[in-house]
Amino acid sequence: PFEKSKGQHILRNPALVDSIVAKAGLKPTDTVLEIGPGTGNLTKRLLEAGVKAVVAVELDPRMVLELNRRFQGHPLSSRLKVIQGDVLKCDLPYFDICVANIPYQISSPLTFKLLSHRPIFRCAVIMFQREFAMRLVAQPGDSLYCRLSVNVQLLSRVSHLLKVGRNNFRPPPKVDSSVVRIEPRKPLPPVSFKEWDGLVRICFNRKNKTLGSLFKQKRVLELLEKNYKTMQSLQTVQDAEMGEEKMSADDVALLANMVEDMSMETGYDKEDDEMEMDDADMAGDGAASFKEKIMGILQQGDFAEKRGSKLSQVDFLYLLSLFNKAGIHFS
Ligand code: SAM
Repeated sequence: PFEKSKGQHILRNPALVDSIVAKAGLKPTDTVLEIGPGTGNLTKRLLEAGVKAVVAVELDPRMVLELNRRFQGHPLSSRLKVIQGDVLKCDLPYFDICVANIPYQISSPLTFKLLSHRPIFRCAVIMFQREFAMRLVAQPGDSLYCRLSVNVQLLSRVSHLLKVGRNNFRPPPKVDSSVVRIEPRKPLPPVSFKEWDGLVRICFNRKNKTLGSLFKQKRVLELLEKNYKTMQSLQTVQDAEMGEEKMSADDVALLANMVEDMSMETGYDKEDDEMEMDDADMAGDGAASFKEKIMGILQQGDFAEKRGSKLSQVDFLYLLSLFNKAGIHFS
């Protein structure tokens, strides 16, 4: 009866369900968002933990029926609200904390949907596919450090809580899992997310290229020069202020639409098609001097020989501020 396409793998180890609930640090005043409650094993424990309410969003109408049947007449059922729908498409209700064993195919868009929800929640304790979890927590220099790591860590503190083998589920999935804690940063770093992601995208475009060679690509230079000229012609180059721009809720909301391709992104298998197309393709003095301007900024912060895969949050913030101060923008 379980549908693979909906990622239906039911947690069958009660001790594991208990330790997930324990790690969540629930308070009696909490409204808990559960995503994909399935048959309700985790839901039941969440209700028993004595929270104010559990709101559970489940896609499969059969599971919703089963869930309602299971909790019918249950003393705690008045604290449970089940919403039938696709969590990626519905408006999320208010919640303090999210606890969920999710279908893995929605990991990336769901993570950014949660992080762009307002008011911001306190914490999320979520089961992910092991590799996705390791990407979330990866640090500079780790082999799984990628655009996903950098972007999620800009918006939150992420920590690995539990390794979970595939045999804890029925039916067992093909991959191992991990439970991760995500705590949104408060306040958010003073940066425009569009700018940030634009820079990070370029820096992770080819995992093992230096920033010097990535920023020499014709495509990149053309994009940055176009942005630069637009800014200048609109006379909105308020350089200093732009560097200080705060990240708005709207800005973060854009995330949800920007990240579909992010979950398993590695950059390993892309061909180096557009590389080394620098000097020959750049026509005229204008182009050459724009390129020099960009290279000058990279050298100023000693970034030209560095690789995105080794840069920390602070490095990226510093690099972005250098670019913005020089009137260079990524969105
Ligand atoms: N929480 C249960 C447990 O731990 O035993 C079941 C977890 S199972 C991995 C994922 C559940 O999410 C399934 O019940 C599936 O029907 C549901 N689901 C799949 N896609 C969904 C979506 N887009 N929105 C909401 N629920 C979804």
